[in-house]
Amino acid sequence: MNSKPIIEKLVNCFKLFYGESMSSLIDERINNLVDIIFYNNHSSSKELGTIQEYLDEYNIDKYRDEIINKAIPISKYTLETGQQGTMIYEKDGILRMVIYFPNTTSKQFNYDCILIHELLHVLDEHITYNDSNNIISQGGFETTVLKGDKQIERSYEFLNEIIHQRIAEEINEYLYNKDIMIVNTKEEKKESIEYYKKDRSEVIEYFYNSFKSKLLTDKLIGNIDEFINYIGKDNFEDFNNWIKEFYNTYVTPEDRLNKKNSKEYIDITNKGLSVVENMVKKTREI
Ligand SMILES: [Zn+2]
Repeated sequence: MNSKPIIEKLVNCFKLFYGESMSSLIDERINNLVDIIFYNNHSSSKELGTIQEYLDEYNIDKYRDEIINKAIPISKYTLETGQQGTMIYEKDGILRMVIYFPNTTSKQFNYDCILIHELLHVLDEHITYNDSNNIISQGGFETTVLKGDKQIERSYEFLNEIIHQRIAEEINEYLYNKDIMIVNTKEEKKESIEYYKKDRSEVIEYFYNSFKSKLLTDKLIGNIDEFINYIGKDNFEDFNNWIKEFYNTYVTPEDRLNKKNSKEYIDITNKGLSVVENMVKKTREI
């Protein structure tokens, strides 16, 4: 599969969605993406050890030398689990990213949305701290140490993924309404929209719809502290804890769908709604 036309098309879609004012930022950020490396799922059960063995087994021909020389990182875990995964690293103080993407996913009805999700991580990611010993990068609400041993206390990884996916779904819908397809057909895209809509939490929707426009730009630019201050630090921590509790209680989309009418589910939802309500109140004070 050829990655370049897919990346180009997606970049144009992002520019359309975020508007002209974000166009140069999008170009700047996408420059950090080395490429999408497509791979085939493994077909044998043989034990793999060396990088060469992995590259052979997963049919990765592109960037072979760079991966073997460790100029480009490989995630054995990503390959083994057959998932898509974005590797973030630094080279000579510059942020670099590479996306491993399974070929099988390209046959799925929600391929476009998965591509949007991964590329959106690339757009969000940027270096926020860089001295000779430490390099720290931020992507949305999540922070990564690229170099050095600085400790990061807070983790919003899970919250970031939930919000990130919600935005990817929004972009997917936006493109559908504009009749723009990346790889999927219009029918497949429609199916994906309905599929994602079935698994939406009232709490996430309330949060998303209340702060959408600020959230979209602040997350892309990286004005995360400003956004957190806007909705209130304590409220944000409560929201982060609520997300962990909810998605740890109801792990799969089936769990969430089947338990929707249970007392426990309703209680936990009400608790989340009141957290978002506090955020809304806080922004009204300003
Ligand atoms: Zn993600």
